[in-house]
Amino acid sequence: MSANSHHVHAVHPTSPTVGATIPADERYSRQILFAGIGATGQQRLAAAHVAIVGCGATGAAAAALLARAGVGTLTLIDRDFVEPSNLQRQVLFDEQDAADALPKAEAARRKIATFNADITVHAHVSDLVPGNIHALLQPADLVLDATDNFETRYLINDYAVAHGLPWIYAAAIGGYAATMNVLPVGMALPADCGPTACLACLFPKPPSGPVETCDTAGILATAVNLAASLQVTEALKYLTGQPHLLRRTLVSFDLWTPGERAGLERSEIRTGTPDPACAVCGQRQFTHLTGELRPHITLCGRNSVQIHEHHRPVDFAAMQQRLAAHGSVRFNDLLLRFERPPLTLTLFSDGRAIIQGTTDVAVARTFYARFIGS
Ligand SMILES: [Zn+2]
Repeated sequence: MSANSHHVHAVHPTSPTVGATIPADERYSRQILFAGIGATGQQRLAAAHVAIVGCGATGAAAAALLARAGVGTLTLIDRDFVEPSNLQRQVLFDEQDAADALPKAEAARRKIATFNADITVHAHVSDLVPGNIHALLQPADLVLDATDNFETRYLINDYAVAHGLPWIYAAAIGGYAATMNVLPVGMALPADCGPTACLACLFPKPPSGPVETCDTAGILATAVNLAASLQVTEALKYLTGQPHLLRRTLVSFDLWTPGERAGLERSEIRTGTPDPACAVCGQRQFTHLTGELRPHITLCGRNSVQIHEHHRPVDFAAMQQRLAAHGSVRFNDLLLRFERPPLTLTLFSDGRAIIQGTTDVAVARTFYARFIGS
């Protein structure tokens, strides 16, 4: 990660706080009453450690749910800052956070401390990359994907399979929400519910071509919260020692468009068992983890960053339509220029881009991922 990334660790209160006066059996009484959790389950949650990768809408919702549920330790990892357009759906942030452009991981940590001061939250203002993934994820019992890009999801998948660490995929865009549990080979599971397929078993390669993002296709907060609710419910089952209850499907909902017989449009496909032919969990080739497929990004002087990680044809006319609402766009046969002050993105027909107005690689990558796709 770039030199300006920093880690912010939770500080335990040095003086008694209001939260410290709330006994756990009172705070969590309604959850303990729920037969699926009970007093034993609650104790297991207190001892558990969950890492959440991404602290945007899905990550903030998942972090809020896990914190209120009493998961003892949370690690929050995010490379971005709070902006006014986040407030429509990112439940842990407020107007002051946006005015201060507070890093999301730290803003989330502070907000969680106001409603559950009894748990420990580690906030990492970082991009998750091969060089820091072990330090960030190794202490966790479970990893929740709340990223907005496939590059990071394949990195998480590589790491999880390599280390036998479970993770839960979640995604939301437009009015659509999807999630899937990945229980990789090598993790401790009872004989009657063995490992599942990994992300690469189902989708050997990240999607090619431009990918819609929340910044181009929009997003309903309700879709995000559904994805986080489904994801966190599975997390609670796992953390309370009930892996036999975990869903073994990739489930997705379209919350907006009625499906057959006017019902909620839902698709659910069995993820199945690990594929021996899978490059990741079958052949144990961790190309994302070793960085072989790592993006090629270079600082290219004059206050600009070049991103040449994505090799894919770009349809400039379609791209202009997508971007028009977000800034000024013009293009010719060779390149498209997208101006959204203070940054200007110049996109070439092979997907290469130069982002002017910053020398911060993380800022340039975030801008590219938001508007062009990951
Ligand atoms: Zn696999």
